[in-house]
Amino acid sequence: MNIQKLFLNPKIILPLTFLMLVNITVGITAYIYADKNEQLSYTLAFKNLEAINNIKEHKLKLFFKHRLQDINTLAHNNDILEISKDGMKDTSYISIFLNEYEYSDLLLLDPKNSKITFSAKNHSLIGKEVTSQSFSNSNIAKLYKNVLETNKTNIADTEFSVFNKENPYLLFATPVREGKKLLNILVLVMPVNVIDEIIYFRAGMEKTAESYLVGSDHLLRSSSYLKKTFNLKNSFLEPQKYKIDTKAVKEALEGNSSHNIIKDYRNVDVLSVYKPFQLNTLQWALISELDESELIEHYTNIRYDIMLWSIFTSLAITIIGYLIIMKILKVSVLTPLQKSYKRAKGFEDIIKNSLNEIYIFNPKTLKFSYVNSSAIENCGYSCEEFLEMTPLDIKPKFDADLFAQIIKPLLKKELEQIFFETKHRRKDGTLYDVEIQLQLMHIGNSDKFVAFIQDITKRNKAIKEKEKFYNIATHDYLTKIYNRQMFDDLYKREFNSYRRYQTPMSLILFDIDNFKNINDTFGHDVGDKVLTELVKVVDKNVRETDIFARWGGEEFVILMRRTTLDVAYEKAQHICKTIAEHTIEGVGQITCSFGVAAPSDKEHPLSIFKDADLALYKAKENGKNRVEKSS
Ligand code: GH3
Ligand code: MG
Ligand code: MG
Repeated sequence: MNIQKLFLNPKIILPLTFLMLVNITVGITAYIYADKNEQLSYTLAFKNLEAINNIKEHKLKLFFKHRLQDINTLAHNNDILEISKDGMKDTSYISIFLNEYEYSDLLLLDPKNSKITFSAKNHSLIGKEVTSQSFSNSNIAKLYKNVLETNKTNIADTEFSVFNKENPYLLFATPVREGKKLLNILVLVMPVNVIDEIIYFRAGMEKTAESYLVGSDHLLRSSSYLKKTFNLKNSFLEPQKYKIDTKAVKEALEGNSSHNIIKDYRNVDVLSVYKPFQLNTLQWALISELDESELIEHYTNIRYDIMLWSIFTSLAITIIGYLIIMKILKVSVLTPLQKSYKRAKGFEDIIKNSLNEIYIFNPKTLKFSYVNSSAIENCGYSCEEFLEMTPLDIKPKFDADLFAQIIKPLLKKELEQIFFETKHRRKDGTLYDVEIQLQLMHIGNSDKFVAFIQDITKRNKAIKEKEKFYNIATHDYLTKIYNRQMFDDLYKREFNSYRRYQTPMSLILFDIDNFKNINDTFGHDVGDKVLTELVKVVDKNVRETDIFARWGGEEFVILMRRTTLDVAYEKAQHICKTIAEHTIEGVGQITCSFGVAAPSDKEHPLSIFKDADLALYKAKENGKNRVEKSS
C-alpha cells in the first residue's frame, strides 16, 4: 500500500477533513469574536463615556439647582434682610453658611448706587462701585446689571482676579426684596474648583478616562485629571497656552451632543463623548474622554486571550484528532500492513534461506535481478557478479538458441512451468547436476522468470550407488551376467506366466568340460579368464529375451522364453559348436556339455532343472562336448 493510497483511504481522509473543518471553524470563530470584541469594545466604551457624561451633567445640574436654591433662600433670610436694611449685624450665620457651602464670599450691592455695601470675607471691597471703571466688563458688573434689569436670579460665568486671585470663581446673584421694594442685590462668590469634586468623581471610570468642563471662552471650568498643568488656575492665568480647541469642544459649544474619536488637548487619540452644558447664561461644554490606547490595550489583551484560547483549542483538537487517526491507522492500516510485512518478510526469508537455489531473471535481457543465498553459496559468485550475469553463464550445456527454445512455451504462456535437468558450472569451473523448475511470474509490475534449482548431485550419486548394489546383488561378480539368485527370481516369474498361459519355454544347462584341468594347468586366474571369455562367446549367441546366468562354479544356465525344447536343443548345439571352435588365448580350445529341458509338470517348477541336469549328466556320460535333451 503506497502512501497516496493510504491518505486517500476514507478512514483517514474523513477524520482529517473533519479535523481541518473544526480547526478552521475555531479559527474563524476566534477571528470573528476578536473582531466583534473590538467593535463591541468601542461601542461599550462610548456608551460608558456617555453614561459618565450624563451622570456628570445630572450632578452638575443638581449642583447648580442647589446653588440657586441656596441664594434664593438666602435672599429671604432675616440676617440678610437686616443687613440690607440696617447695615452690619451679627454675621456668624453667614460665615457658617459660606463655609458649609464652600462659597468664598457673600456680597450685598446697593441698587441705588451700585456700591458694595457688604462683604462677608473681604471688607476692603465695601464702598466699591461695581459699575465703575475698575469693574468695567467684569462679570460682577454684568451680573449686577442683568439682575437689576430682569429682577431675577442669575449666574455669571467664571472670572479671575477681581475678587479672588487664587481661584477663578462663579457668581450667583439675586435681588433682595422686602415686599416689592428692592433692598439689595445679593451676590455669592464660589470658586469654580468646587465643581471639580463632581467632575473628579471617578467611580466606574477607566484608568485614562476623564471628564472636564470647558467654557465658551475655551478655557477649562474643571481641572484636567490626566494632565495636571491643565488646571483652572493655569487656564485663566495663561489662556492662550491652555485654551482647549478640540473638535469635541467646538461641537459641544455649538450645541451638539455626540461622540467621536479625536485628538484631545494633549494631542492624544481619545474616544470623546461631548454635550453642551447650558444653564442660564452659562454656555459650557461637558466632555468625557478615554484614551484610545487603553481601549486598544484592552481589546488587544482580549484578542490575545482569544488567540491563545483558539490555539489551545486547535492544539487540543489536533492532538485528539491525531490520536484518533493513529488509532484508526493502527487498527485498519498499520496492523494489517505490519502483518503483511511480516508475512512478506517470512516469505523473503524462506526464499533467501531456501536450500534450493532461486534465481529471478529478466525475460528479455535474461539478466539476473535476484539470486538467493543458496545460489551464491553453491556457485561461488557474489551477488553483484550475479547481477551482471545470465543463466547461460552458469549452464554450460545451453547456448542462447537452445535456451530460447526452452523458455519459448513459457513466454507464449503455452506452459505454466517447465522442468529439466542439466548441469551448473561454478565460478571455479566445477560442475554439478541440477533439476530446474522454471516459470514466468508476474512480480510487481512486470513478468520475471523464476527458477527453482535443486542440486541433484547427491541424488544422482545415490541412484548410482543403488544401481551398483543392485548389480552386485543380482549379477555375478566375475562374469557380470545374472547370478543364480536373480535367475531364480526371473525364472519364478517366467514359470508363473508359463503356468497361466502355457507359453513354451526351455532351459539349457551347460558345464565346462574338464575345467579342473585348466585350473590345474594354467592357474586359477586363467581359469577365471576362461570363464569370462566363455560368457562373452555365449552372450553373443543368446537373444535379448533369453535369460543367461551363472548357475555356480563353471556351470551356466540359459532360460529361453517362448522357445520349444527342440528349438532350444538346436540353439544349444549351435552354442556348443561355437564354444568348441573358439580359441582362448593362452589356453586353446575348451568344450562344454549341454543338457536341455522343457517344463514337464505345471505343478513342479523345479522339475525342469532336474531334467536339464539329467540331460547334462547324460552329455557328460556320452563323451562331453555334446548336447542332450530330456525325453
Ligand atoms: P567334468 O568334465 O566332469 O565337469 O570335470 P571337471 O573338472 O570340469 O569338474 P570338477 O567338478 O571335477 O571340477 C570343477 C572345477 O571348477 C573345480 C573348481 O576348482 C573349478 N571352479 C569352480 N568355480 C571356479 C571359478 O570361479 N574359477 C576357477 N578358476 N575355477 C573354478
Ligand atoms: Mg561342474
Ligand atoms: Mg566341468
